[in-house]
Amino acid sequence: MRILLLGGTGEARELAADLQPGIEVISSLAGRVPDPALPAGAVRIGGFGGVDGLRRWLTDSGVDAVVDATHPFAATITANAAAACTELGLPHLVLARPAWPSDGATTVPSNRGAAEVIAERGHRRGFLTTGRSSVAAFTGVDAWFLIRVVTAPDPGTLPERHRLLLSRGPYEYREEAALLTEHHIDVLVTKNSGGAMTRAKLTAAADHGIPVVMVQRPPLPAGVVTAEDAAQAAAWVRALAASR
Ligand code: NAP
Repeated sequence: MRILLLGGTGEARELAADLQPGIEVISSLAGRVPDPALPAGAVRIGGFGGVDGLRRWLTDSGVDAVVDATHPFAATITANAAAACTELGLPHLVLARPAWPSDGATTVPSNRGAAEVIAERGHRRGFLTTGRSSVAAFTGVDAWFLIRVVTAPDPGTLPERHRLLLSRGPYEYREEAALLTEHHIDVLVTKNSGGAMTRAKLTAAADHGIPVVMVQRPPLPAGVVTAEDAAQAAAWVRALAASR
């Protein structure tokens, strides 16, 4: 049995390692980061060319199923995979890691909404952890930002006053707490990514009395089958393989 595993996350790498050698896995990465952490087994890199391109790729490669283990905010590829699999009648699973509880945080639907909250409340020093494509939303806000990203945003998209921190998780509590203190952070901005790898910042913010503005997840496509973690996804793939 051969599966396409849409990846770019820790869970996807965990699943690829778990399934092989028993199952043939082709992992797919978008190609956004120059030096990606590579999963075990075959890897293809780059977009498919929308739903049509993905449908063609799925047909040509003869995969038997698709597991979408992309990030909860990677909504376009998730919608495309759901549409292509429905059209082709291919078994399809979304590995959707549970969201973080948002009690205590100010929840907003978008980065623009987060920027509005910061401006309205007069925060002066924000810690932005919402990713490189989000920073443009904060350019009009009169505040200084510590911006943590994996790859640098285009210079034209950056807020005027900021410091860039290029790094990749996971992050420990102690380093998160040190960042908040060292940079006199008075608001943390995060997506509701879920998962353990980047959760320490929430505990550190709570312990330091720093308010959190949390961008809510885009909804999943209607009717998709989901798993919560790599182990559940692996069980789904193995059950499918056994039934063939
Ligand atoms: P997105 O907005 O949903 O996707 C935009 C386009 O990128 C898709 O239409 C597709 O191009 C291509 N693409 C995305 N994921 C792909 C994959 N795994 N393999 C092949 N093509 C892919 O996605 P995104 O938010 O930019 O995320 C891109 C990648 O980074 C994903 O693999 C995701 O798991 C990872 N990631 C994202 C975040 C985040 O916050 N968004 C965080 C950590 C990791 P075509 O239409 O040409 O097929």
